Amino acid sequence: MEAKNLVIVESPTKAKTIGKILGSNFTVISSMGHLIDLPQKSLGVDIEKDFNPEYVVIPARRKTLADLKKEAKKNDFIYIATDPDREGEAIGFNIRDNLPKGKKVLRVLFHEITSSAIKEAFQHARDFDLNMVEAQVGRRILDRIVGYFLSPLLWKKIARGLSAGRVQSVALRLVVDREKEIKKFIPQEYWEIEAEFKKDAVKFLAKLEKIEGKKIEIKNKEEAEKITGIVRIKKFLVTGVEEKEKNRYPSPPFITSTLQQDAFNKLKFNASKTMIIAQQLYEGLNIGQDETVGLITYMRTDSPRVSAEAIKEVRVAISKKFGQDYLPAEPNYYKVKKHAQEAHEAIRPSLISRDPQSMKDFLTPEQFELYELIYNRFLASQMMPARYLTTSIDISADEYLFTASGSKLAFAGFLAAYNHEEKEEKTIIPYLAKDEELILSKLTPSQHFTKPPARYSDSSLVKDLEEDGVGRPSTYAPIIYTLILRDYMRRIRGYFHPTELGIKVCDMLVGYFPKIMDIQFTAQMEEELDEIEEGKFNRLKVLQEFYKPFKESLDYAQDNIKKEVIKTDQVCEKCGKPMIIKWGRKGKFLSCSAYPVCTHSKSITTGVKCPQENCGGELIERHSRRGFFYGCSNYPRCTFIAKHLPQEDESKDEQKEELKEEPKE
Ligand SMILES: [Zn+2]
Ligand SMILES: [Zn+2]
Repeated sequence: MEAKNLVIVESPTKAKTIGKILGSNFTVISSMGHLIDLPQKSLGVDIEKDFNPEYVVIPARRKTLADLKKEAKKNDFIYIATDPDREGEAIGFNIRDNLPKGKKVLRVLFHEITSSAIKEAFQHARDFDLNMVEAQVGRRILDRIVGYFLSPLLWKKIARGLSAGRVQSVALRLVVDREKEIKKFIPQEYWEIEAEFKKDAVKFLAKLEKIEGKKIEIKNKEEAEKITGIVRIKKFLVTGVEEKEKNRYPSPPFITSTLQQDAFNKLKFNASKTMIIAQQLYEGLNIGQDETVGLITYMRTDSPRVSAEAIKEVRVAISKKFGQDYLPAEPNYYKVKKHAQEAHEAIRPSLISRDPQSMKDFLTPEQFELYELIYNRFLASQMMPARYLTTSIDISADEYLFTASGSKLAFAGFLAAYNHEEKEEKTIIPYLAKDEELILSKLTPSQHFTKPPARYSDSSLVKDLEEDGVGRPSTYAPIIYTLILRDYMRRIRGYFHPTELGIKVCDMLVGYFPKIMDIQFTAQMEEELDEIEEGKFNRLKVLQEFYKPFKESLDYAQDNIKKEVIKTDQVCEKCGKPMIIKWGRKGKFLSCSAYPVCTHSKSITTGVKCPQENCGGELIERHSRRGFFYGCSNYPRCTFIAKHLPQEDESKDEQKEELKEEPKE
């Protein structure tokens, strides 16, 4: 009789795909994520005893664990095939600890769910990586300590029910600081002067750059008019012509952060949505003839490394599709960041022969769009650079120097595969010789103002979190999701606006916990967690280093923090005392300042009428477990709700998405 094998994974879809690949000697079941975690109602960390965690079985998962145990008894071999990262290693390790003793339990790792990758993985089954588990435990404990101790302080200071997370709070700080910069910003006026010339029926523009060799700064209309008055009657000579060839190189294949950035910029997907769809592509889809397969490699990664096999395949595909000219002599290699998990790979199609068009019938429109983006970016990453011919022209009118530049695509290279943004107008410059005289056809001064920095979007926030070293592939999307859920910021037309509540929470944390809110300190913590994983650092040391300054701030805050009162100009209809703003479970509301003597309270109205016909109510701010929304003041008679006020309403679908789906943390 053949040996019986049990395989444990963390998601039902993945279990289905793998089950089909492995066949009937294998039983594949899902743990539904973590089974074991810190307790819900207490700290669950023994600070006195080396910060030891007190893990418990998650109550809602007791039955799943019992089923797993029963199944384990029936099988000869047990394999744990959770996702190939810290989180997956920890989920698997905790399961192993709870299985019946005496069974051989092995860990298998694969970065793509295809028949060959999985068979290969089972041949290399190994023991658990204890350093990786330690790193995850360290992170969990740090996050628990911060959440557990900071939340009650926020309750005391601002409102009950608020919570703070370690890395989220630093992200919130970026958003709040940006908002403050924008509020503070004073636009500066400046002027530009453009000259239009014509040669051989081609019109082109040149910009005034320098006067007497110095960069020009024109502050106002008077100055601009004075200069145009002088320049207008001068003789214009071509004093420099420079032609150059310029290469533009392809970007590396996607890692989590760049996938989220590009999916936002090109497909308008927010970070959570990108991860949910990527996970579907990774875990496996039916691609016809009852074949189920994962179309992309694992989507949580910070390494642009690509397997030798995949490089070989993509090079063949490039020469077939575009021709030999588009294929570099040697494969392109991309630098791996410090601490990136070496074993990981970039996000790429698992099989290059499954081109997007041939998969289209089996994918939803959104799955198709994301797959196509990943596929083409991977092709492009192994292609030749694009080549441009650029021309720069200097045009002098005595001491006034104008410049013009143009560029022409000479060879498309990788742009043939991945060209989403190349719609920028390329200026065409006619042939010009040195010392040639030009006839001015127009001279146009124009007024401009300096612009404040832009608010963060999913794309730019993920970019900065990565650059600042505080985000990791598994955390970008949950950070953004959580800040919106808690109504610390809102996504309006794709950009993050911190709410009043978010600003209050941030200010309180910066004031009392400068270290926790310090970007560099947080980045250092993250780096030390990475080093635990590499076996170069120990968990206790990281926790001690963190806990000492944290405890000092905590003690000070507990003794000194006072309830904050936010006054309004409204008075209480019952007793005439001023009304103040409070935050409750259902969001912001007005409360009588004489509370508890007077208990009068009311909703804050927005002044926006309920759009429901014949309702006559007004939209008020509300809050639920799912996040922030606007509801009708006539509730429950009228059940109208909206994520945005009508005038903010543009990205309705995206916001609905946010309410509906929750990324795995
Ligand atoms: Zn009152
Ligand atoms: Zn209504």
